[in-house]
Amino acid sequence: MVRLNEIRTGEVAVEAPAPTDAGLVFIGRIHTPWTSRLDCPRQGRPDGPTCRIEIFDPWAPALAGIEAFERLEVLYWLNESRRDLVRQSPANDGSTRGTFALRSPVRPNPIGTSLVTLVGVKEASLLVRGLDCLDGTPLIDLKPDRCLFTPLAPPQKGDFQVGDL
Ligand code: SAM
Repeated sequence: MVRLNEIRTGEVAVEAPAPTDAGLVFIGRIHTPWTSRLDCPRQGRPDGPTCRIEIFDPWAPALAGIEAFERLEVLYWLNESRRDLVRQSPANDGSTRGTFALRSPVRPNPIGTSLVTLVGVKEASLLVRGLDCLDGTPLIDLKPDRCLFTPLAPPQKGDFQVGDL
């Protein structure tokens, strides 16, 4: 059962504070085969359809070196989500769970993340597999998968700290 914007039995909405501008800029747009939330995957899969991530001007030079990474973390703005539920019923069966214990698109700040496989880089576009968002979803950020990335900057004190402080 996919949610459009209804509230289900047992769910709890709050009066969400008016959004303030955190200074986000959408750096691109994601092109996928899905035009309805009813058709999107719940989570992307590594062998899912190839999707295109379009990078807007002036950000294309920020892709330099990205082809070295087989997997990327993609952050996007789930722009059609409601933002006021604190308890949700994913199965729509009356049982609920807190929003922060779910990966639902409905959240105070509707940020989606996916680990994708990089298929290719073509000018200011990336071809990737593993997405689950609607066609036209705004892009917030791209990063190499943290498991593949070794910091280039020298370590700092905090890198060696372990246990309780
Ligand atoms: N993989 C991301 C994550 O875990 O953060 C998103 C997971 S979320 C469960 C994926 C669902 O969000 C899709 O199945 C679809 O129902 C919904 N969705 C996709 N694109 C959306 C958009 N632009 N606005 C609102 N909902 C969207």
